[in-house]
Amino acid sequence: MELIKALRGTRDILPDEIGYWQWVESIARDVLFKANYQEIRTPIFEQTALFERGIGEATDVVGKEMYTFVDRGERSVTLRPEGTAGVVRSFIENKLHATSGAQRLWYTGPMFRYERPQAGRQRQFHQIGVEVLGSRDARADVEVIAIATNLLKTLGLKNLNLNLNSVGNSSDRQAYRQALVDYLSQYQDELDPDSQDRLSRNPLRILDSKHPRTQEIVQDAPSILEYLGDDSRAHFEQVKQLLTALEIPYSLNPRLVRGLDYYTHTAFEIISDDLGAQATVCGGGRYDGLVQELGGPETPAVGWAIGLERLVILLQQLNSISGSTLDFYIVSKGNLAESQALILAQKLRTNGFAVELDLSGSAFGKQFKRADRSGAVACLVLGDAEAEQQTLKLKWLKTGEETTLNQSDLFDKIDQFRQQIKSLKKT
Ligand code: ATP
Ligand code: MG
Repeated sequence: MELIKALRGTRDILPDEIGYWQWVESIARDVLFKANYQEIRTPIFEQTALFERGIGEATDVVGKEMYTFVDRGERSVTLRPEGTAGVVRSFIENKLHATSGAQRLWYTGPMFRYERPQAGRQRQFHQIGVEVLGSRDARADVEVIAIATNLLKTLGLKNLNLNLNSVGNSSDRQAYRQALVDYLSQYQDELDPDSQDRLSRNPLRILDSKHPRTQEIVQDAPSILEYLGDDSRAHFEQVKQLLTALEIPYSLNPRLVRGLDYYTHTAFEIISDDLGAQATVCGGGRYDGLVQELGGPETPAVGWAIGLERLVILLQQLNSISGSTLDFYIVSKGNLAESQALILAQKLRTNGFAVELDLSGSAFGKQFKRADRSGAVACLVLGDAEAEQQTLKLKWLKTGEETTLNQSDLFDKIDQFRQQIKSLKKT
């Protein structure tokens, strides 16, 4: 019989890897909590029109990468390729703008894009993202960048570079677009077919083409920074100053763009030196026009999204995560001992300890080996003799030190054991 396998571009996150994910998620929750961001959970599928309008039909994501299908009610439905469009839809639909002050939101979950799978690029992948809705202030741009760098730093990641640009407002961009088209038209025949196609539809996107000859041509293209009007220039100056004040280093990259009208001002990416071709860990920027584009009130906004697969790859390279945090591993043999051990495990868990009970019934030797591999701090041993006397053997696995005690002693002196385990875990 032919085995049914996971779809191309999807993968299982197995127990040997899940620790990295849970660690990233818990650090992220903590960092976001400390900046008072609230989690929002939106549906994984939405009306196709939301993404067409919210991301733009001229983008690769909408043009080539969406998982779109017609459901049984004949509606066109799309698995979300990113998080911002859904968050903004929800923001408008639930009138979150009625709350005074800026809304600080975050989300995490799977995203879907029909792409060619490779290391760090999948068809189902995961992002964590933030959106600040309702502030035009440069401090909001810098706050979200600072949260991203804070998160990455807390995870112990190094060799990251923040690339920064401003794409101005739509009138700045109109002037720039013309200059760019004038320049690129001289090389029309040398551009890759995709870029030739974009020359009329979405020329700014040509700037981040991955095609080698196109990249060469683009090197000498006019810079958008020279086309910023006074307001855009002032906003960008402030962003740069505040980043410097926070001691967050950045590199200017005038080729970093988002090609759509509702993206405005700040655009940024955080790139790793340790990831090969799929090097962008975080992408974000300001989108002052999007809420209105989707039918809401004028609401300036800024946010980012981090790709979690790429973070996990980096963390695995560092191998920086601590192993199992099991407190007790319990081995037992014989009917009475086995049932006492089960009760003991349950009591220890309700007292807040992490406990694994060996269920194999195999010889003590084999159970001890598993206890050693489990990473537990201590092993509890119950055989026939202990069971009859209501005692147990406690073995500290790190030191090999062993004692016998009454089962009730374990709970009479529970706080003492808690302290001992805590200090042994630190060493
Ligand atoms: P790329 O240039 O790598 O295709 P993108 O510009 O399409 O990235 P964004 O839409 O800005 O990416 O998404 C933010 C982040 O999500 C990326 O920086 C990356 O870390 C991650 N990401 C995007 N697409 C994928 C994918 N197919 N598989 C895994 N991670 C992804
Ligand atoms: Mg992409």
